[in-house]
Amino acid sequence: MLLRRTGVVRGLSTVSKSNYGLATRLCHPKGKGKGDPYNASSPVLYQTATFELPGVMEGGEFDYTRSGNPTRQQLETQMADLEGAHRSFAFTSGMAALAVAMRLVPAGGHIVTGDDIYGGTSRLLANVAPASGVAVSNVDMCDREAVRRAITPHTKLVWMESPTNPRMQIVDIAAIATMARSAGAISMVDNSIMAPIFQQPLALGCDISMTSATKFISGHSDVTAGILSVASEELAKKVYFLQNAEGAGLSPFDCWLCLRGLKTMSLRMQRQQANCLAMALWLEKHPAVKRVHYAGLTSHPNYALHARQAAGGGSLLSFETGNVDLSRALSEHLKLFKVTVSFGSTSSLVSLPCFMSHASIPREVRQARGLPDDLVRLSAGIEDEKDLIEDLEQAMAKACSDVGLAVPAGTPHRR
Ligand SMILES: *Cc1c(COP(=O)(O)O)cnc(C)c1O
Repeated sequence: MLLRRTGVVRGLSTVSKSNYGLATRLCHPKGKGKGDPYNASSPVLYQTATFELPGVMEGGEFDYTRSGNPTRQQLETQMADLEGAHRSFAFTSGMAALAVAMRLVPAGGHIVTGDDIYGGTSRLLANVAPASGVAVSNVDMCDREAVRRAITPHTKLVWMESPTNPRMQIVDIAAIATMARSAGAISMVDNSIMAPIFQQPLALGCDISMTSATKFISGHSDVTAGILSVASEELAKKVYFLQNAEGAGLSPFDCWLCLRGLKTMSLRMQRQQANCLAMALWLEKHPAVKRVHYAGLTSHPNYALHARQAAGGGSLLSFETGNVDLSRALSEHLKLFKVTVSFGSTSSLVSLPCFMSHASIPREVRQARGLPDDLVRLSAGIEDEKDLIEDLEQAMAKACSDVGLAVPAGTPHRR
């Protein structure tokens, strides 16, 4: 406004963002209000399928929303800025985005991925990829030599998750990206758990970063969406072609919801992370808990590696009790934690992955991959830390008594 009064007309899109931190860039988004004659403070929602053209022989910047829409373009521009990408693309869900990434591999090609991956990804790669003539190898991606051995001359894509879901294993992203590149393959990280606030795969040398915007970007469990961010013009062309040809681009209103979510994403993620660390420390001390998996705990076997490639432990943890009945009772006695799949919402969530998000992985495969049925996954929301810890305390006490487990009296449950 000040600048406007002094006669210097400039849109926020022309402000150099290089020195601003992520939280600042989220509140002052790149490309905001482009072409809006009224300077609306909130993004303009272009809820339209078609755009009138200047004439039958002339095209406009936009003609049909499947091919492009200004609200989607604003979300994609902002995501590209956050991810340090050449270009980003918004799809109707994380899986729709991942399906497009999978289709970058031609028939006869090969994908190397992890053995502790998101359930939907596991289903896509196990059941859909083979039908299009693409082979998939699942390996322990924490073992770099195993990845090296799995890469063949046909490998076109190396597909990582770090931390992995739900066991929170850490993969050496930069080392594997280099390995993929020297084998002539592209590399991708499914960055849904960290989002660009905590981890930026393109800066670590990857070609594609994927984020399920259903999680932290929307942040309020009110939309499904997925973003692919690519490092090169060549990949951007291929992904844009598929977005338009297959029609899974995100609808204008869902883009608008994501744009609203982005404004508070950094704030939410910092608070969720603080809550998650508090819960991890509490669980680690509890005698009924066998093992806590959380990337932000110094006891995590790959804590140092994670700290090198990411800016935080995030807000997702899992733990083992060694007893399915105890895990189930605990989950059901929690009052503030909703029994829900997904994560990254304002409210805390609890799930038993083997019976929920990862149920699509056959039981034998889950067992072979070391995914125990008693694993409990917690997603921290933005509630008050003390309420979450007290809720865990009461639920754990009830669950222990339900299954006849005596918790030693005087156990220091509180930090
Ligand atoms: C949720 C999730 C997906 C899928 O995203 P949707 O938006 O649910 O389709 C993919 N990968 C990971 C790691 C996820 O957590």
